[in-house]
Amino acid sequence: MTATPAAEARTLLANLGVNPSALDGGSLIVRSPITGEVIARLGETAPGDAAEAIAAAQRAFLAWRMVPAPRRGEFVRLIGEELRAAKDDLGRLVSIEVGKVLSEGLGEVQEMIDICDFAVGLSRQLYGLCLPSERGDHRITEQWHPIGPVGVISAFNFPVAVWSWNAALAFICGDSVVWKPSEKAPLTAMAVAALVGRAMRAFGDDAPEGLLGLLIGGRALGGQLVDDPRVPVVSATGSTRMGRAVGERVARRFGRSILELGGNNASIVTPSADLDLTLRAVAFGAMGTAGQRCTTLRRLIVHADVYDGLIPRLAKVYAGIRVGDPRLPDTLVGPLIDGDAFAAMERALAAARAAGGRIHGGGRADVNGDGSFYARPALVEIDEQVDCVREETFAPILYVLKYRTLDEAIALQNGVPQGLSSSIFATDMREVEQFLSAAGSDCGIANVNMGTSGAEIGGAFGGEKETGGGRESGSDSWKAYMRRQTNAINYGRTLPLAQGVTFDV
Ligand code: NAD
Repeated sequence: MTATPAAEARTLLANLGVNPSALDGGSLIVRSPITGEVIARLGETAPGDAAEAIAAAQRAFLAWRMVPAPRRGEFVRLIGEELRAAKDDLGRLVSIEVGKVLSEGLGEVQEMIDICDFAVGLSRQLYGLCLPSERGDHRITEQWHPIGPVGVISAFNFPVAVWSWNAALAFICGDSVVWKPSEKAPLTAMAVAALVGRAMRAFGDDAPEGLLGLLIGGRALGGQLVDDPRVPVVSATGSTRMGRAVGERVARRFGRSILELGGNNASIVTPSADLDLTLRAVAFGAMGTAGQRCTTLRRLIVHADVYDGLIPRLAKVYAGIRVGDPRLPDTLVGPLIDGDAFAAMERALAAARAAGGRIHGGGRADVNGDGSFYARPALVEIDEQVDCVREETFAPILYVLKYRTLDEAIALQNGVPQGLSSSIFATDMREVEQFLSAAGSDCGIANVNMGTSGAEIGGAFGGEKETGGGRESGSDSWKAYMRRQTNAINYGRTLPLAQGVTFDV
């Protein structure tokens, strides 16, 4: 490890096709959380240029919607090929820009490749329905049409994968995309835009200019996407505070929003759980990505009979966890994104302590000097689900609660404002099925014998309540990127009216 993160990031960006002249002289300062050093000073997109990018996306949409869907799938296949070729460089750049350990940086790019593959297949399966008509010589069909430019606003913690969940589907659905990545992670977005540019050139003439627009800057630019009536769908990933603002504004102009917001995910550990498996799953779910996944395990609800068999062992794992530079192969927990994130973790731990919480771990780890913020993960035994437990703190804090009946555990699990992910550790199928039933977990994701994080792209991803209700990625999430049209067709010579209505003229 000879190069500094900044020097290495610049080499990777050049390899990925980003023009080095775009990296200096601007007002948006991009730092690597690994050391805190500045990687780039980017020029921010001016409001007028953002409006032009939306106009270009609108023009691109008018052409793209007429390209046959399987051909649009070929374009996404080419994006997948670019990502395959660039996986090592892009994965490493993700690590440097947001501080993930390398295997997670590479995993993020693999997820992008996976959704491209999924979308290629889907491009031949944008099925409508054929419905029975109550009238003679009539038939009713339902078809799906492209809808328009899709605005994508993404968070720092999955700086590129979240874009791909949206864009791969939007592209095969016949839509163009305008992307406002996190101001904390714009470099990986610039690299992805360069790779998409390569795919467009390989695809040829029917990839219209403006198919992907990129807006570099802060929330005001996101606001432009939110308010522009030329953008019928806004997919926004980030905090609940952001989603509340975005959702209301998009609704005011009757746009459609796909909101992927904060989580406060819990696992229930029952008496029949396999505790060795549980221990490993909890460690990854709660400490992986330094607790900075929307699906990070934040609450562990443990049956009183297995509490003493699990929690002291877990505390030992916390004490030994390797926090360090994410570029080193044996590091499991990298840095927090910035000082604000560390301060939020400290505030939450102080509140937990004041509420009687017993804290194992926590505090700043001494890695790479003062400019970066490495935290030791914290395990907090607490008796009640007090305010700090009910909030999402985007850092590695795991609250542990004790329960006696499964009804009580499910009530605790559901007793928070968020509804993203959940899981149960159990081999008693009655308890598993109760957890998965209508009276069980109220989350968008409910897993069995695994943690709350690490979803595959094949399922629909998203959550309920303050998580926003959106669904992205697999299953039939594609429908959110298209408009539905019902077609009633009369192939007879008379004009029977529905419901037996008569109107003789
Ligand atoms: P954030 O809300 O600070 O920012 C996310 C994005 O929204 C950024 O691009 C930001 O510029 C933009 N933004 C913020 N306010 C806006 C506004 N009023 N109008 C338009 N755009 C606005 O979130 P973050 O700190 O980058 O990410 C962490 C949060 O994201 C956590 O709460 C996490 O749970 C959530 N998250 C959710 C999912 C999911 O799929 N549910 C996935 C990843 C992250």
